[in-house]
Amino acid sequence: MRCGSARASAGDDIEIVLVEPNPCQQALSELDLVAVGPPRPQFCELWHPTVFRDLPVTVCYNRLHDVDTASRSAIIGPRDEEHQRIDYWRLVLATGAIAFVPPVPGLAENAVTMWSVEDAQELQRRIEAAFKHAATLYTREERNRVLSFTVIGGGATGIEIIGTLGQMLPRRAREAGLDPEDLRVRLVEGRPDILYDLPKPQRAKAVARLGRMGVELVLGEMVEHVEPGVIVLESGKHVDANVLVFCGGAKADPDAIDWGLEADTSGRLVCDEYLRSTRHEDIYVVGDVAAFRDPKGNRVLPMLAQFAIRQGEHTADNLLREARGEKITPFVPHMHGEFVSVGPRWGVGWMFKWNISGIPAIIMKRLTYVLYWFMVGGVRLAWKRTCEMLSMQR
Ligand SMILES: Cc1cc2nc3c(=O)[nH]c(=O)nc-3n(C[C@H](O)[C@H](O)[C@H](O)COP(=O)(O)OP(=O)(O)OC[C@H]3O[C@@H](n4cnc5c(N)ncnc54)[C@H](O)[C@@H]3O)c2cc1C
Repeated sequence: MRCGSARASAGDDIEIVLVEPNPCQQALSELDLVAVGPPRPQFCELWHPTVFRDLPVTVCYNRLHDVDTASRSAIIGPRDEEHQRIDYWRLVLATGAIAFVPPVPGLAENAVTMWSVEDAQELQRRIEAAFKHAATLYTREERNRVLSFTVIGGGATGIEIIGTLGQMLPRRAREAGLDPEDLRVRLVEGRPDILYDLPKPQRAKAVARLGRMGVELVLGEMVEHVEPGVIVLESGKHVDANVLVFCGGAKADPDAIDWGLEADTSGRLVCDEYLRSTRHEDIYVVGDVAAFRDPKGNRVLPMLAQFAIRQGEHTADNLLREARGEKITPFVPHMHGEFVSVGPRWGVGWMFKWNISGIPAIIMKRLTYVLYWFMVGGVRLAWKRTCEMLSMQR
């Protein structure tokens, strides 16, 4: 095995190797601030040397190419290159998901998705280009067209992006010498409402909040096709979209279906109650790439960080049990709450039996990050990142 860093050991007989092509972890739930706020991509990134500072983990900066289940080897390396093999006793697959872009003509060519720091930086660039262009235009009509910012998708990601655009763009426009009255910020959603995962009263509060920000909602209208600067709806209506963001969904890592494991019709890897692949008991699948069916509601868990993190923790515990020759335990999912930001300083959601909105909801949402930073880097990292977050959402 060649991995570029010294091997680490968790004990005499256990070695832990993480295969990951990126040198840092990206916190996707904070992308809206990076996309619209001051250009500070590092805010979303946690470098692996920081994350694994005190842990016996070897990070192999490469991609999983294939899985040889017969000889229990993970085959590492990009396509068309010489591959290395890492033998495993147990393999955990957690390769996540990618943005799903449906085959609507012109959509992929004209829209930016929101799935990585690079996507957020691309949106930053498009916002800046629109501001520069608008500053050269004489008529308000032309400026309205160039300063049209449209998000497609009224789920949590779309609402977080449109909320942050709605709240932060007026200030950014003023700083660029433009009149915020020239901005046109719109959300297009095919269903008649937004945030379907939240209780109805919370959805209504989010709609009212967006209305107060001046965001125009175009609901119950599917996009028929997209042309540069404009989207055309099935009703024939045209919506200006000089800067277009598509937040219409996600699909499991498309490479995973080639690894010989059972996958469901959406491409997620099917697992048993212990999160083991239904075809290979020595392979665990967790997070967005896994199709875990919750026995309580008999539905596959949604792609959420809160499930991914708990499944990761649970699997680590089961691996230790297996190593000690103990019985493994089934994964029991619990959802204690969900919060969505509507602009950087306001949110909606629920926790236990209570609906929470406004500043308390945004505090609850941000607290989960602070807790995560604390777990990874202690008080110093939690404090540094909290200060950065407060300065970015101003
Ligand atoms: C904009 C946005 C906002 C979100 N906000 C929230 C939120 O507020 N709350 C919430 O609960 N969830 C949120 N989510 C969902 C959440 O981010 C995901 O559910 C979570 O990241 C899933 O974790 P994961 O470990 O399964 O996958 P990921 O976090 O996607 O990690 C997968 C990792 O696998 C690596 N990888 C992929 N293929 C390979 C390969 N072949 N070899 C090696 N490595 C590979 C990738 O580089 C990546 O680092 C959000 C998602 C987005 C896009």
